[in-house]
Amino acid sequence: MRTPIIAGNWKLNQNPEETTAFVEAIKDKLPASSKVESVIAAPAVDLPALLAAAKGSELKTAAENAYFEDKGAFTGETSPLVLSQMGINYVVIGHSERRDYFHETDEDINKKAHALFRNNLTPIICCGESLETREAGKETEWVVGQIKAALKDLTAEQVSQSVIAYEPIWAIGTGKTASSEQAQEMCKAIRDAVSDLYNEETAANVRIQYGGSVKPENVKELMAKPDIDGGLVGGASLEPESFLALVNYQD
Ligand code: PEP
Repeated sequence: MRTPIIAGNWKLNQNPEETTAFVEAIKDKLPASSKVESVIAAPAVDLPALLAAAKGSELKTAAENAYFEDKGAFTGETSPLVLSQMGINYVVIGHSERRDYFHETDEDINKKAHALFRNNLTPIICCGESLETREAGKETEWVVGQIKAALKDLTAEQVSQSVIAYEPIWAIGTGKTASSEQAQEMCKAIRDAVSDLYNEETAANVRIQYGGSVKPENVKELMAKPDIDGGLVGGASLEPESFLALVNYQD
């Protein structure tokens, strides 16, 4: 009942010309979005090219970040209002790179989630523990704490529509994937936390992705787990062949 969602996160890679060429190469080979949603999250400067190339195809579009205010004196920020006006579908918020390098807090991420819903955008809310936290055996407490903070004062209906991406920091860009059991265990803990905070129906609706060195070789095993509804993919989303292999994992 939950439609799988595989999203590429390009980070600070690709320019507009490369974006157009990438989408042209994949757009006729994507699964129907009713079967698997295929999403590309691109840098803000590439979004007009992404939208133009994706028009009329099954590809959904995402921004990698947005600010929590719609307009004003916030030099260098990206407006969620304008992303919505452009026709963007999703916005990634709370990626560990933003938390670490740009000092984003749980409170910022919660404000961003509210700003996205105010503008009819859907958040992909990232969470995940460091290696230190996992080695201390505190990973579930940490991740559930991040989720509670990110969802604060959202309605059950908003949470039902949200996407949560569990991305252990030690598995991002390292080639070190969490085992499918570890990924399933945390995705289930997140779903249970949503059930405690809201209700079973909301928990059954929210889509939870795993991210951290997902590639064509491991996507099937991860997607076979009952609480993993998708992947958030960095490195393996940069080449058309590899992205197509990921989104067509059911074939
Ligand atoms: C990411 O960018 O969110 C990510 C999980 O990267 P990678 O797939 O390269 O580990």
